[in-house]
Amino acid sequence: MTESTASATSNPKALRQTLRRSDTYYAKGFPELQETIRDELQTQYKSTLVETIRANGYTYTRGDVTIKLAQSFGFCWGVERAIEYAYEARRRFPDRQLWITNEIIHNPQVNQQLSNMGVRFVVQQDGVKDFSKISPGDVILWPAFGASLQEMEFFQQNGNEIVDTTCPWVSRVWNQVDKHRTREFTSIIHGKYAHEETIATSSFADKYLIVLDMEQARYVAHYILHAADDPAAQPELRTEFMQKFEKAMSAGFDPNTDLERVGIANQTTMLEGETKAIAKLFETTMLRKYGPQELDDHFISFNTICNATQERQDAMFELVEEPLDLMVVIGGFNSSNTTHLQEIATAKGLKSFHIDGPACIRDDNSIRHQTLHGGIQISQNWLPAGAIAVGVTSGASTPDRMVSDAIERIFQLKQ
Ligand code: SF4
Repeated sequence: MTESTASATSNPKALRQTLRRSDTYYAKGFPELQETIRDELQTQYKSTLVETIRANGYTYTRGDVTIKLAQSFGFCWGVERAIEYAYEARRRFPDRQLWITNEIIHNPQVNQQLSNMGVRFVVQQDGVKDFSKISPGDVILWPAFGASLQEMEFFQQNGNEIVDTTCPWVSRVWNQVDKHRTREFTSIIHGKYAHEETIATSSFADKYLIVLDMEQARYVAHYILHAADDPAAQPELRTEFMQKFEKAMSAGFDPNTDLERVGIANQTTMLEGETKAIAKLFETTMLRKYGPQELDDHFISFNTICNATQERQDAMFELVEEPLDLMVVIGGFNSSNTTHLQEIATAKGLKSFHIDGPACIRDDNSIRHQTLHGGIQISQNWLPAGAIAVGVTSGASTPDRMVSDAIERIFQLKQ
């Protein structure tokens, strides 16, 4: 059976409640096993060098290199929790097949480690997951990004035990989307339509539209004000809208009728300032269209950006104000929150390199890195001669061990 053949539930809230009451569903890990995995996690993911730098006011000099770490970086609470639950699940079910429906987090090394522990990853092709190899009785791990309603329903009916590591910040957004649904509002989700978290979040909505950024939000706002009421006069605008958001809207979405009542939600790792600006834009748009008396019937919004994302972005804004020669941003190339950290450095005009691990830093003073457009590049002679100050930060899925290995590579090259 594949994901596409699983049927969508008509009552997401009821399904989640049923799951929570089930004795084959685990959403709080296995606290009795915490002690048994502590040392393993410490060895694999922590770093004494990073602890030293933290204790030293986030600055550390060796030879010609001064490292300045962001005051907040790396593993967030939700990611640490997801990894702990996965390790505990392995101990709790030593003889059972464990599956994970996606990467547990956006970090290749952590996912490889789980694979080494015998956890199998569900295969995906063209965005469709193949669940055909999963047998009743297998144990399913849901990653920190969560799972779609269709997946929840499928595994519940398939007789699987479920270890749910979904970050509570993500399920908080689901609750907001569920409120939109029950009040018959369309959810406008600030996010990336192909991102696992946004796929899961949108599955909780009856009607949704996903906007990537402020530019797309402005396009939608303009449509609400200038085209939605006069479709006969401007049919080409509707066609353009449908093409533009083809992959980013719910089935049967009609921009002329489904943008009259909108609620704002977001992928938790988007730039906080942009999410707020988008919410403000739609509030103003609905105010202009319907007036202050009717605003509550046409617009709802709550801030659902997670603390960890916000703290890392704030720390990055502070770090880029320091005198730095260059920045190194460490995190999975498909990590949304890491990409946003890179955006902050680039917007400041800093020479900044987004790498997904220490192996990107090569012996010949070249570096393999991802540009903001998503392309992978090799840059030569990236470390200048003489004394340098290097800013370092990492995304919420990046272990301290990886940060310290990258820093050690820089020290080696500058010896
Ligand atoms: S970045 Fe935020 S939402 Fe994502 S796992 Fe971490 S705490 Fe949870």
